[in-house]
Amino acid sequence: MGFLTLDGLTKRYGEAAAVSDVTLSVAKGEFISLLGPSGCGKTTTLQMIAGLVEPSAGRITLDGRDITHEKPDRRGLGIVFQSYALFPHMTVAQNVSFGLEMRKVARPERETRVKQALALVQLAALADRYPRQLSGGQRQRVAVARALVIDPPVLPLDEPLSNLDAKLREEMQFELRGIQQRVGTTTIMVTHDQSEALSMSDRVVVMEQGRIMQVDAPYRLYESPATPFISSFVGKMNRLHGVWRNSGFESAGRVLPCDGADLTEGAAAVLAIRPEKITLTSPGAGVLDGRVAARFFLGSAWFVTIETDAGLIGVSLPNAGEEPAREGDPVGLDWSKSSAKAAKPEGAQ
Ligand code: ATP
Repeated sequence: MGFLTLDGLTKRYGEAAAVSDVTLSVAKGEFISLLGPSGCGKTTTLQMIAGLVEPSAGRITLDGRDITHEKPDRRGLGIVFQSYALFPHMTVAQNVSFGLEMRKVARPERETRVKQALALVQLAALADRYPRQLSGGQRQRVAVARALVIDPPVLPLDEPLSNLDAKLREEMQFELRGIQQRVGTTTIMVTHDQSEALSMSDRVVVMEQGRIMQVDAPYRLYESPATPFISSFVGKMNRLHGVWRNSGFESAGRVLPCDGADLTEGAAAVLAIRPEKITLTSPGAGVLDGRVAARFFLGSAWFVTIETDAGLIGVSLPNAGEEPAREGDPVGLDWSKSSAKAAKPEGAQ
């Protein structure tokens, strides 16, 4: 049995279900992300765990104890919000100390624990500042220290990094994950940012319309997405439309290499392939020919779109220090059989 378990957890608002029958088992020390598009029910799930929203059905257990209807303060989880929700009239140290005072922890112990928590998030030097005197990243760290200082069994994080600019956000992803690994707190983070979920989590829970669609380690989620929705939501995916032949997937009069499952001769099929699984070669030397439509320089890679008879195909090329083909250049595209998967089109029986 998991350290934190959700069993058939459901939340209805009138007729509409915000969360439907969510079942999940989280191990002690795990970092789990709830990932999905806006409105899929991630925040409602997190709030039910934290005790801020009452479930309509289902059960939540923590370390073997049924906490489904327990008051939030009895659960002792704390929560880190996107807005940080710091007290503006309190210093950093007072903000972090607040939860310990509420729990009637004696002053000497409080002082020691606040110091430890601030050291953990590298804010010891700013203990006497007020929130308005801090940067966004520093405020976010205060919020994390305030949540961790009470030594919660589970740390719920609600989009904790989404108010930060792109560069700081990336730095904080590594920092927050580092802190979590040092402290070992079981963590559930809500995010709609797939790269954040992939880089920080032990396992990612993908949600769509209130339901769990897949739970997997980041690498497996990326390599073996359970549905076309997940494959496009997590990373980029090319989709080519064609027909399944016993010889393979056929599009624009070409048989293209791929693995196929559960397909019958002559049926419509979709071939899915990630942009980084394709290489560029000379025209005629690959599995398909085309012409460069556009190039985008991303720093560590180039993203090149190629117009082909089978449709527009995106190719991601690592930056090897020289420019790839230019707009209008004829090119060949090549990929291995195992890197492309053919399946029925979405919605087909
Ligand atoms: P976002 O990323 O936009 O925050 P989310 O995945 O966290 O989205 P939720 O906030 O959990 O989604 O909402 C799930 C669904 O439940 C949405 O359709 C939302 O409109 C609905 N919902 C949430 N809270 C309430 C409420 N108090 N009353 C009625 N409907 C609600």
